Amino acid sequence: MLLLLLNLYLANEPGRNGSQVYYPTILWRFVQVDTLFETTMHISDELIQLLRQARRVVVLTGAGISAESGIPTFRQAQTGLWAQYDPEELATRAAFRRNPRLVWEWYAWRRQLVQQAAPNPGHLALAQWERLVPGFTLITQNVDGLHRQAGSQRVIELHGNIRRVKCFDHDHPAESWSEAETPPRCVQCGSFLRPDVVWFGESLPAVGLHQAVTAVRNADVLLSIGTSALVQPAASLPLEAKSRRVPIVEINPQPTPLTSAFNFVLAGPAGEVLPAIVQRIHLNTVS
Ligand code: NAD
Repeated sequence: MLLLLLNLYLANEPGRNGSQVYYPTILWRFVQVDTLFETTMHISDELIQLLRQARRVVVLTGAGISAESGIPTFRQAQTGLWAQYDPEELATRAAFRRNPRLVWEWYAWRRQLVQQAAPNPGHLALAQWERLVPGFTLITQNVDGLHRQAGSQRVIELHGNIRRVKCFDHDHPAESWSEAETPPRCVQCGSFLRPDVVWFGESLPAVGLHQAVTAVRNADVLLSIGTSALVQPAASLPLEAKSRRVPIVEINPQPTPLTSAFNFVLAGPAGEVLPAIVQRIHLNTVS
C-alpha cells in the first residue's frame, strides 16, 4: 500500500478591489493509493464501460496535449535562441521587473507559435466527447486557447490565455498595442503590458479554481492528460478526486510523480489515445 500526501488547501482572502483570491497553501492529508489497475496503451473494455456510463466527466489537461500541435511543453520549451533560459525564471513578476523586454519577447515568441498552431486530434476528440455527455468540464493549465479553437465550450483556463494582454500595474486589458516600444505601454495608465497568464507566485482566478474544484468533487470520472503533475494546485486535482473515490485515468507517454495513484494509465500520446476512446464511446460497442 502506498501513501501519498495531498497538499490542496484553498485559503480564501480578500484581494485587490475587494475581490476574493485563492492562494494555494499546504494542508497535509493522507490519501490511500493501492489500486493501480492498468498501465498500457491498450484501452480495456472495463475502462470504456466506465467512461460510457459517466455523466459528469472532468478532464484536466497540460502542455502535453498541445505537443502534437507543435507547441513545446514547458520542459521542451527552451529551444534555439531561448535554450539558455529557465521558464521558471521567466514566468514571474520578479523576472518581468528585472528584465521586462526579455520576458515580453519570450512570450511574443510563444504567442506566435500558438497563433500558427491548430488543434490536433486530441483536442478535437475532447470537443466531440463534450457533445455526448450532459456534464463535461475541461480544466486546462494550457494558455494556448486550442481547446476552444477545437470547439470545446465548458473550458476553465486555470493559468490564463497567452493571446490576451493586460497591464502590469492594474490588469487593464489591452485589445491591441504598438510594437514601437518593447514592452508596449498601457494606454490607460502607462505601465508595461504583459501576457494575461498566471505566473509562478501569482494567484489563480478565484472563480475558475472554485468551479474546477467543485467539478472534481462531483465527478464520476477524472482524466489527467499531458501534464507532468508538478505545478500546484492543478496537480492536486486528481488526488482530490481519488480521495472521494472518483476513478482517475492518466494519459501520458511518460510516467509522472502521480502515475502510481491512477486507476488506469494509458501510456501513449493524447492525439492517438483520445480519438480511440471517443470513437469507442460513440460507437457504443465493447470490443
Ligand atoms: P509540462 O511541460 O510540465 O509536462 C508536459 C507533460 O506532457 C509531460 O509529462 C509529458 O510526458 C507529457 N506529454 C508530452 N507529449 C505528450 C502527448 N503527445 N500526449 C500526452 N502527454 C504528452 O506541462 P504542464 O504539466 O502542463 O505544466 C507546466 C506549465 O506550463 C503549465 O502551467 C502550463 O500552463 C504551461 N505551459 C503551457 C503550454 C501551452 O499552453 N500549450 C505550453 C508549455 C507550458
